[in-house]
Amino acid sequence: MAIENGHAVVLQEIDPSKLKITRTPTPSTLPSTTSLPFGIHHSDHMLILSYDPQAGGWSAPEIKPYANISLDPMSSCFQYATSCFEGMKAYLSPTSQPLLFRPEMNMARLASSVSRLSLPPFDTSALLELIKKLVKTEEKWIPRDEQGKALTGYSLYVRPTMIGTKSSLGVGASDKAILYVICSPSGPFFPPVLPSEGKVPGYIKPVKLLTVSEHVRAWPGGTGAHKLALNYSPGFLTQKEAERKGYDQILWLRREGREEVVMEVGAMNFFVALKRDDGDIDIITPPLDGTILPGVTRASILQLIQSDPTLFSSSFSSTTNPTPKLYAHETPLTMSQLDAWHSQHKILEIFGVGTAAIVAPVGATIVVPEYEQGIGPVAAAIRKIILDIQEGRVEWEGWAVGC
Ligand SMILES: *Cc1c(COP(=O)(O)O)cnc(C)c1O
Repeated sequence: MAIENGHAVVLQEIDPSKLKITRTPTPSTLPSTTSLPFGIHHSDHMLILSYDPQAGGWSAPEIKPYANISLDPMSSCFQYATSCFEGMKAYLSPTSQPLLFRPEMNMARLASSVSRLSLPPFDTSALLELIKKLVKTEEKWIPRDEQGKALTGYSLYVRPTMIGTKSSLGVGASDKAILYVICSPSGPFFPPVLPSEGKVPGYIKPVKLLTVSEHVRAWPGGTGAHKLALNYSPGFLTQKEAERKGYDQILWLRREGREEVVMEVGAMNFFVALKRDDGDIDIITPPLDGTILPGVTRASILQLIQSDPTLFSSSFSSTTNPTPKLYAHETPLTMSQLDAWHSQHKILEIFGVGTAAIVAPVGATIVVPEYEQGIGPVAAAIRKIILDIQEGRVEWEGWAVGC
């Protein structure tokens, strides 16, 4: 509600029934599946809507040809980084239906990012309805094989974005915003290894981590638990330095007294698999203390393990006998604790998880055992189940949502 000339006016919520679809007269074609590096290509259309209290609230939503956005140079998003986003993927089911993975979690997280930036609120279920329409419109952009069938590991990355558009240099909240959603066809995060590299088929190259505590990604009371654009750009310099030194990613640490607390792997949640004395396996990730991004992949892995410790047994290679049970824990982790477990030979695997990579094995820096497949058996088993659910081969509690 807003006050206008002393009268209360009800502002318009997002209304999916007002969606206007304008198709491009010049549709493009999907690039070859062999050249789909992450986040380079975009599909033909975008979803866009704007919020302006003077214009009555949320505009009628539009799906229209992908195009530039023109903004006042004073816009809040340029001056004060009022910008947040989500990352989700549309997969093709075995019956060629586009599927989103637990999209209501992305909508809830976007709403919390928007609230943290004091941007205008929006109706999460209305936005999800529109995103499904966009994905359906952009269906042909989900990569597939020559027979038109699903290609495992390929998907259409969906990037909802909200920016503050108030034109004012005044330091304060933006009461105007643009919400848009763009799509980018993406191939497997890990490129296939060439036969000349002498690795087994399906080898996934472990990422080499540089531990960093002089730059801090997130801190208590900060914004690390939200997907705000301003959380990422300060890490680019650090990431470039890491690459120059021959590392792939950063292991973000935070000094707390004499301890270094483990936070995240680049923009992925951190997991460690530990061998227990009884032969079973503990899977540990740091708790959501406000410095950790509440990942959908992270939550799903914890829930899958908690629902059934033997769930992953069938995915382990038959060489691990008897097949171990998995137990999940959310526990603060420090570097000295990891070092201690390492010297007790308890660390089986370390991996990062997130929508883009799903599960990425970690090698070097913290010494972890090497596996012939690159990825260890625990990470591989988790990766397989998550992908089976995302790609609709296994039904799990309605997590894969059709468009
Ligand atoms: C997006 C993100 C993740 C992973 O979240 P998912 O919902 O699983 O994709 C983890 N850490 C950071 C910092 C992120 O931005």
